[in-house]
Amino acid sequence: MTTNSIFPQLEIPDTLAAGPGPGNTDERVLQAFTNAGMADHMQPDVLRGMVECKFMLRSLFGTNNTYTFGVAGTGWSGLDCMFSAVMPGDTVVAFANGTFSGIDALTLNMKAATANELMVDSLNPKAASVVVIEVPHGQSVTGEMVEAALAEYKPKWAFMAHWETGSGRINDIRGFSDACERHGAMGLIDAVSSLGVENFAIDDYPGIAGWASCPQKGVLCLPLTYAPVSFTDQYIETLKASGCRTFVHHPIMEARHWGIVDGADVEKGTYHRTHSGYAVAAFHEALRITLQEGLAKRAANYVYHEAALSEAVTAMGCEVTSNMTSLVVLNLPDDMAGREMELVQACRAEGFGIWPTLSAPVQVRIGILNQLTRASITDIVNRFAEAMNKMGADLDLTAVNDRLDTYYSKSLAAE
Ligand SMILES: *Cc1c(COP(=O)(O)O)cnc(C)c1O
Repeated sequence: MTTNSIFPQLEIPDTLAAGPGPGNTDERVLQAFTNAGMADHMQPDVLRGMVECKFMLRSLFGTNNTYTFGVAGTGWSGLDCMFSAVMPGDTVVAFANGTFSGIDALTLNMKAATANELMVDSLNPKAASVVVIEVPHGQSVTGEMVEAALAEYKPKWAFMAHWETGSGRINDIRGFSDACERHGAMGLIDAVSSLGVENFAIDDYPGIAGWASCPQKGVLCLPLTYAPVSFTDQYIETLKASGCRTFVHHPIMEARHWGIVDGADVEKGTYHRTHSGYAVAAFHEALRITLQEGLAKRAANYVYHEAALSEAVTAMGCEVTSNMTSLVVLNLPDDMAGREMELVQACRAEGFGIWPTLSAPVQVRIGILNQLTRASITDIVNRFAEAMNKMGADLDLTAVNDRLDTYYSKSLAAE
């Protein structure tokens, strides 16, 4: 490779994104992205689009929190913004039950570490003020666990993932919020996987001060756009009092471009950083699609189709250990145990994008983001069954499809 190499134009194939996320972006979102004109970040329609997105986000999140907006980037960008209020020496209790809440706990250790603690092991600091409660992979965080830990440590902040995508587990958000209220902790939630998939309203959880999600899972807006965040007035007051060490992810400053200034909505935003009209148009359309369909209906569709996939893979001899409705996490049948990576790689080589778990134990993850039709689920099941057969599983594809047919005709009859 020389320094003046020019490569052929990059071509990226169309694949079926059937993993934990991203999900296949909706055609309407891509249209909105490519149809947007070139306009700068202070052009009136771009600013209006951002303000409209802010109002639509409040509907999607089910909140009156004024500080509800999008952080440019992916899930970690929104989470970093949310965690920015955590200052060195702050007391934190974090619950980790998989890859993502594990990384969230790492972030919290980085934010809460003192300068000396950070120097001891800068890539994996252990802040004395942070307690991480490790919950085994495959288990959910329960309200009892949160209650016990908050009663013991009485932290300033408590953290949990709503849905832990690494292990496919739903954690007890009600128990978490209630315990935060009882013990005076400000709750922080990683809602990267649940927003747009489950029907919940954040104002029903008053113990939680901060929420962060992502654009490319339940909201289906991969063209690098905005990670939704929402903060209560208490969070903002706390942040204002302590300050934080970031400009770009400062929740109060970032909100200004979305038309939130001094705790109130203003007609148009003021400069914080450059925003892309393409991204604003795509995100705006993604929010419109979700709200037009209705969160309750979408959530019910996820439940309905996840059950079909789950039943089919169970009939194929797999053991499902997850309870999320957008994702199935499974163990292969005993005689194929240990061949998870081989199977996932074979599927991915054919454009069928399923995933392994990213932390131990090795399991297979199959997601259904934006695949909410009988035809899509049937396609996913058949691709998976065929890949297992290529590895010698000897599954009867007709029986598998009969099973799916029975599920769908029975459920339709019940409607
Ligand atoms: C996907 C995910 C993240 C990371 O989001 P990115 O968009 O990859 O930055 C964090 N937390 C959870 C629970 C996730 O599912």
